[in-house]
Amino acid sequence: MTIFTPIFNGKRITITVSDEEARPIREYGRRLGFKGEVTDIKSGKRFRIYGKACSLPNCVCDATALQLCDLSIAKRAKQKV
Ligand SMILES: [Zn+2]
Repeated sequence: MTIFTPIFNGKRITITVSDEEARPIREYGRRLGFKGEVTDIKSGKRFRIYGKACSLPNCVCDATALQLCDLSIAKRAKQKV
């Protein structure tokens, strides 16, 4: 298992993911954009991981997480309008 600490809703969270899901994210390494989807083993929640600039200049080693069920809710809300 691998521990990730992305930013989620403006806060740093700690999620535990399988090594299989963690591999592509580590391979993408320091870059912006979509890196992969992971499941937090402890909560069962799915997240989409994006690269993010950290506090160092020209460094993008940090990550942002978006919860996947939030994305589907947003889609459904758009369709109703
Ligand atoms: Zn960095």
